[in-house]
Amino acid sequence: MFNVSTQKLLSWKKKQLLIGGDVQSLNFLLDSVGGLSNKKLNLIKFKSEQNIKLKVNLEYLEILWDKHISSSIPIQHLCGLAFWRDLRLEVSNKVLIPRPETELIIDIALETFKDRYERITFVDLGTGSGAISIALALKNPQWFGIATDIDKNAIEIASRNYANCPNNSNLKFICGHWWEPLKNFEGEIDLAISNPPYIPRETYEKLPTEVKKYEPKTALLGGESGLDHIQEIVKKAPIFLREKGFLILENHFNQGDKVKNIFLENGFTLVKVLQDFSGIGRFTIGRYK
Ligand code: GLN
Repeated sequence: MFNVSTQKLLSWKKKQLLIGGDVQSLNFLLDSVGGLSNKKLNLIKFKSEQNIKLKVNLEYLEILWDKHISSSIPIQHLCGLAFWRDLRLEVSNKVLIPRPETELIIDIALETFKDRYERITFVDLGTGSGAISIALALKNPQWFGIATDIDKNAIEIASRNYANCPNNSNLKFICGHWWEPLKNFEGEIDLAISNPPYIPRETYEKLPTEVKKYEPKTALLGGESGLDHIQEIVKKAPIFLREKGFLILENHFNQGDKVKNIFLENGFTLVKVLQDFSGIGRFTIGRYK
């Protein structure tokens, strides 16, 4: 442990932010590598404690911060992890860094199945770091889940993330393209959920370096219109969903109405576009008949 005076830490923070970056990322670094939680960091301002304990020294943290600023490497990659809902997940450039706006998809799924007490079978298509499937599996130990991803590196990361959780026995990971690994589950899925790549090509080209250079293109780009993968997932969903099974997808900020139509064209009923915390129609949900 390294002892640092409160005053030294606060002036160090100020100095780092003058170099660049935002305070959330710096706090993330202090938490994930320095071992100083945001809660403790906030308390420092009110308490007159003289010394703070850090897992590493400030010089080491500064090297990471410099790298983040000079090369635009996401801070989560430098720290090797991301926080999402109540999960602490390993991430790398092989998986999308789970976004805060996606967190709500879990609440939508839980709300949809709140009155069903039997064991349901759910799938998470394109699981990446495993965030969605792991959150669902841990919240519902009686559910059975399968998470797929086309990239075997992602499957390895997601499996490790799940293995690090307690009571991890109700979720399996399979490598493959969307529904393809689920051939043995035709007509048996109660809930399918996905945050597929949905960024239109033109928008993708203009994304910040931090995203374009370091996050997997396959997890972001949804073809010319952004809707290629959403189309494919919705079209094949009727083969795999049970009668009255649900599909929940995340989409780009302006795709809600289009995705709703794709659901309707493929036989879904009760189709709704739901908003994220910023009031953006971010999720589309529908029941297969
Ligand atoms: N929400 C992500 C972003 O804006 C995109 C994720 C996705 O394509 N599924 O970077």
